[in-house]
Amino acid sequence: MNERALADIVGPAHVLSGDLAAGYEIDWSRRFGGPSRCVVRPGSTAEVSAVLSLLSREGVPVIPQGGNTGLVGGGVPAPSGEPPVILSLRRLDWIDPIDPLAGQVTAGAGATLGAVQRHASEAGWEYGVDLAARDTATIGGTVATNAGGIRVIANGMTRAQLAGIEAVRPDGTVISHLAGLAKDNTGYDLAGLLCGSEGTLAVITAVRLRLHRPEGATTVGLVGVADYAAALEVMAQARARTRVLAAEVIDAVGMRLVTSVAGLPWPLQAPHPLVVLLEVADGGDASGLPFDDDDDAVVAVEAGDRARLWEYRERQSEAFSSLGVIHKLDVSVPLASLARCATELAHLVGDHPDVTDVGVFGHLGDGNIHVEIAGPAADDLAIDHAVLAHVARYGGSISAEHGVGRAKAHELHLCRASEQVRIMRAIKAAWDPDHILNPGCLLLPM
Ligand SMILES: Cc1cc2nc3c(=O)[nH]c(=O)nc-3n(C[C@H](O)[C@H](O)[C@H](O)COP(=O)(O)OP(=O)(O)OC[C@H]3O[C@@H](n4cnc5c(N)ncnc54)[C@H](O)[C@@H]3O)c2cc1C
Repeated sequence: MNERALADIVGPAHVLSGDLAAGYEIDWSRRFGGPSRCVVRPGSTAEVSAVLSLLSREGVPVIPQGGNTGLVGGGVPAPSGEPPVILSLRRLDWIDPIDPLAGQVTAGAGATLGAVQRHASEAGWEYGVDLAARDTATIGGTVATNAGGIRVIANGMTRAQLAGIEAVRPDGTVISHLAGLAKDNTGYDLAGLLCGSEGTLAVITAVRLRLHRPEGATTVGLVGVADYAAALEVMAQARARTRVLAAEVIDAVGMRLVTSVAGLPWPLQAPHPLVVLLEVADGGDASGLPFDDDDDAVVAVEAGDRARLWEYRERQSEAFSSLGVIHKLDVSVPLASLARCATELAHLVGDHPDVTDVGVFGHLGDGNIHVEIAGPAADDLAIDHAVLAHVARYGGSISAEHGVGRAKAHELHLCRASEQVRIMRAIKAAWDPDHILNPGCLLLPM
């Protein structure tokens, strides 16, 4: 493949190789990555289309990439095999003015989630998805992964916010469906299908998003509890009082790490097996939190104090990264099974001879825990398999919100019957008959 032909489309400054490409070739966790032919940075949908059409004619594999914050190796090359071109969408970072009639906004795939949130908020609206990587993750990446995050209990996942999409098929054909109609039952929901497709079907270039009215003043509280059953009970009591906007959990290892690594003060009177973080829409008077005098709890109503309490949860990934390369397993189980499954999981992982540290944090309200494991080599998959198989036995998901990527493609059978995988392969073949788009991500090569 001739890099000059790519440079003719996007300009020579936007075809990167060697050291300039290095940051695109390895993922945020530093666990996944491999060599690329080059990185191409198109600046418009027309350029995305021309690049894909060229690469498709030449049969060159392509990996779409947004902010490169994905945690399952889906946006970076595999360590071996034919090196792909990395198609970085970050330059598509435009955001249209808010449409106040529809309560929607259209944005380029490369705008960061944080930029979309701020844009909405400045116009008196709110975007319903939030996660700690907000200032690096792109809106296109969050749609491509159907990102979850800390507001799912209140607003649902990214797919629930998606009102339209523009995407480019591997052969360069542009599909545009950005009108954002509230009602539109005309056949299969292609936007919904591309949401969560992890760059395997088409390259997302723009999205149309539903916005929410802001909740007004809120209260955030942290409370120490003895176990998952108690954590779920606190959450249930809060839900009986008011609208819960977030219900998160951090275990003792996560609390110890985040206080030492991020230099945060210990927020409660004593250590506890679990700490629950709740944010509730109660007008900011703390009436939505079900804490009493016997609880070891702390409550924040001012914006700065609320943000300070959120830091214990938001800096978990960073805190665990201080232990080296972490096996990050993002799983979910039905809430009724969470207490038992998580307790057994702690023993299963803790007893493994190579594991030096294991901790858990996550989105309690969604039954979604992130199991963080230090010790085993980056390419040692034994502990990953043991955790995922355990969760599958509980009827859970091996990927709650991060996607399957390259990390879990060989474990898909734990959650999807062979007939379902056959249908997924047929869908893949319909969109990408030559299999040039993100090969090895989500579906293993045949
Ligand atoms: C500190 C931290 C906290 C996180 N918290 C959460 C969380 O709470 N919830 C959650 O769901 N995730 C979380 N994540 C994971 C990550 O932020 C999300 O998966 C996010 O949606 C990825 O966006 P990105 O732009 O970085 O995508 P990338 O990492 O660049 O790519 C992710 C996948 O999407 C594909 N892709 C990217 N852009 C496009 C596009 N325009 N068209 C087609 N395919 C594309 C890639 O090929 C890849 O398969 C967190 C990550 C970090 C580092």
